[in-house]
Amino acid sequence: MNAPLNIIMPAEASAAPGTYRLLIDGKHVDARDGRTLERKSPGHGFTVSHYAQAGEAEVEAAVQAAHKAFETGPWPRMKAAERAAILLKTADLIEARLEDIARLDALESGKPIAQARGEIGGAVDIWRYAASLARTLHGESYANLGDAMLGVVLREPVGVVSIITPWNFPFLIVSQKLPFALAAGCTAVVKPSEMTSASTFVLGDILMQAGVPAGVVNILAGLGADVGAPMVSHPLVEMVSFTGSTRVGKMTMASAAQSLKKVSMELGGKNGQIVFPDADLEAAADAAVFGGFFNAGECCNAGSRLIVHEAIADDFLSTVKALTARVTVGDPLDDRTKVGAMISSDHLAKVTDYVAAAASNGSSVYSGGKQLASNAGQYLDPTIIRGVTEDMAIAREEVFGPVLSVLTFESIEKALHIANNTPYGLSAGVWSASIDTCMLVARNVRSGTVWVNTFMEGYPELPFGGYKQSGLGRELGKRAVEDYTEEKTIQFHRGQRTGWWVG
Ligand code: NAD
Repeated sequence: MNAPLNIIMPAEASAAPGTYRLLIDGKHVDARDGRTLERKSPGHGFTVSHYAQAGEAEVEAAVQAAHKAFETGPWPRMKAAERAAILLKTADLIEARLEDIARLDALESGKPIAQARGEIGGAVDIWRYAASLARTLHGESYANLGDAMLGVVLREPVGVVSIITPWNFPFLIVSQKLPFALAAGCTAVVKPSEMTSASTFVLGDILMQAGVPAGVVNILAGLGADVGAPMVSHPLVEMVSFTGSTRVGKMTMASAAQSLKKVSMELGGKNGQIVFPDADLEAAADAAVFGGFFNAGECCNAGSRLIVHEAIADDFLSTVKALTARVTVGDPLDDRTKVGAMISSDHLAKVTDYVAAAASNGSSVYSGGKQLASNAGQYLDPTIIRGVTEDMAIAREEVFGPVLSVLTFESIEKALHIANNTPYGLSAGVWSASIDTCMLVARNVRSGTVWVNTFMEGYPELPFGGYKQSGLGRELGKRAVEDYTEEKTIQFHRGQRTGWWVG
């Protein structure tokens, strides 16, 4: 029996919690009914933040402010170079506050601080990338329609965008959406998760400091049903950019369909890493552990299924198990931590229920499987389940915890069948020294991203999104700004009327 984790209380535990007010039309305001939400650190147990809790009245005010800023304000009308300058300044200001923001995300979500720093650094890079796209966004012209006609296709900002984000990458995910919407000239109402809103409010302050005009970005904390739902159904909202679960994504799309809004959906995943015997097995084992346990498995891209060739399964898994034993689980604020706290005790119970169900259905817990004893917070031992079959819930559903399900194959066809046999299609990995094997897998896996001899790297230049029930549309990449635009076709005619109708 291991000693209980000893979680050290940080200075924040004895200070007053951070308080965050809603950002509407450039002003910080409380909710009209005075309600607030409290967030406790899942890694330590003390209260980190209080947010003003919005409701329908605040959604109305925020959408009206965004609409006014879009219809009459300077943001959509200024030169792209001016918008780009503000996005670049935003990136610099985020960079200057990187440590504070990373600490807030680590405290509210339970993720390791070193990882949080990497995410905020990644977000800075995305804001800079979006600034470059603001200046290169352009339409098309057609001078090949005859001498009397010039066709021009404009890219215009779509309007007010509702941006709804989850708790697992609070600052990074808003940074995959908002800078591109802003680069296009849109205005926005943003709702972070009710569990991890603090860093998004800091972003709101930074945006105002950088010179984003009042009303262009409005930020609301609140619950999905009270705030998210009216942000989706509101008639003045033209587009919904949602990241979260497939379940809520479907509800959101159904609601957005009532007024035919544009939607962008980044949803769940059940991603497989396929390991062939000729792979660099040391690297593949490290990536298997990383894929399974990064962000405590609370990651849409988690490599939650390890699909390994039968011929190497025993040896490979004993390497994976040995590496797993070296993964440091514990205090999110400790620089050495690789796996921090689970987001909530309810979520931890859901994950351990999956493990228990798998164990009673014929598979076996090969490593971990238990909540770790600790003086504070909620932590789960990284878990490996062997003998998983394709029909089991743990092989098909998104567990969203540090749980690696192992399935085996004897042929490439079987490996592909397993990889594709889920309702999801977000990402996949393949490990082999053979270009033929890698290419065959990469071409036949039904997912938005395939990593070949690497796993879970991300670059703003590369589009990201899901096949099947993992989503709709793509974020990042050179077309990320276009997603927040409408195309307008203008036909310029000169000279005599062509094709007289009446005569
Ligand atoms: P969730 O779907 O429960 O919540 C996401 C957001 O939607 C939250 O802000 C929530 O308050 C809001 N919401 C809830 N009900 C709503 C409603 N009726 N109308 C509008 N908004 C509503 O997801 P979560 O638990 O916060 O996040 C985990 C999920 O997010 C996982 O499924 C994960 O795979 C997914 N995710 C996907 C990606 C991706 O890029 N594909 C990235 C990160 C997370």
